[in-house]
Amino acid sequence: KARARAGVVRRRVLMAAMIASRAAVRYGPRSHHPNPMLIVMKRDATAEEVAGVVSRVETMGLKANAIPGAQRTAIGITGNLGALDRGSFESLPGVFDVIRVSHPFKLVSREFQPSDTVVQIGRVAIGGPEVVVIGGPCSIESYEQTLRLAQRVRAAGAQLFRGGAYKPRTSPYSFQGLGLPGLEILARVSEEVGLPTVTEALDIDVLDAVAEHADVVQIGARNMQNYTLLKRAGRCGKPILLKRGMTSTVTELLLAAEYILDQGNPNVILCERGIRTFADHARNTLDLSAVPAIEKISHLPVIVDPSHAAGKSGMVRPLARAAIAAGADGVMIEIHDRPAEALSDSEQAILPEEMDRMMNELRALAPVVDRKM
Ligand code: PEP
Ligand code: MN
Repeated sequence: KARARAGVVRRRVLMAAMIASRAAVRYGPRSHHPNPMLIVMKRDATAEEVAGVVSRVETMGLKANAIPGAQRTAIGITGNLGALDRGSFESLPGVFDVIRVSHPFKLVSREFQPSDTVVQIGRVAIGGPEVVVIGGPCSIESYEQTLRLAQRVRAAGAQLFRGGAYKPRTSPYSFQGLGLPGLEILARVSEEVGLPTVTEALDIDVLDAVAEHADVVQIGARNMQNYTLLKRAGRCGKPILLKRGMTSTVTELLLAAEYILDQGNPNVILCERGIRTFADHARNTLDLSAVPAIEKISHLPVIVDPSHAAGKSGMVRPLARAAIAAGADGVMIEIHDRPAEALSDSEQAILPEEMDRMMNELRALAPVVDRKM
């Protein structure tokens, strides 16, 4: 009898969950967004037919993005699609199907581009078969410190060097970064050591200078929803490393990336860096499930920053291993050879020797998940 009762309860719970999830799809956050559409052309559609669809879309005041694929061309429609009818496109010559994209984002979605985006930074490719490691100090502190650490990062076998010149600090009394002189040090060391660089653009005032001095522009967790900055980043001409906000969902991260792609910059690398939870054994909670979740719905590469997630040097290496095991395209870690003297994030910096160990572990791990390193 008790078992039958439990069965009834379980069915009721399941039913309630189903109703709730349908309601969420219908009335939840997604309904606030216009419905993006994708026009899939027939395999044998001609260039004229593709152009015909594009011009029809444009005469409706919308943006058309033709995406040639191996099999067929698809045309993504952006703009206000509030009252748009599928029928207006279905009958055009060469059209195979008109799909309502099921996510609020479009350009970043797998429906829009099934194949993985590979972001090319000189000879370094992020999102391809090879796992990539970005290493360096939290902050650029001096020319000597930067040169020393860049040499260690290079010797460890990492592909990119990081270091902040503009630091987002919780306290206004904490070290704020060297600013422009820091960028100049970074560019000089990059040249001398031969590693491309990543550094943060804290606001629109410094974005152009950052894009001029670095190879990849980082948008930090605190700025993930700074839409003015995202739009400018979309026009800066450099790849963007976009970090997940500490209270942001994966959908919000992807919509933030959408802003950058919408401005014409397809080179976005997403970064999971831990989110705020009740757990207090680490600085943040590394949400590794974001990695396969993103991989499923977006073609953009995803890396993991175990340093800001952990906040403690002892947790960085295990979390880096877990990130690669979960399918991340790379990791970004903070190192320092004199952690006690570091001007920011001293507790999470690992020593260069520890980085060497991590690299060996990741090299062993990569083939297990069908990657190279
Ligand atoms: C950083 O990478 O230097 C940084 C400040 O990270 P986050 O924006 O993730 O806190
Ligand atoms: Mn830091």
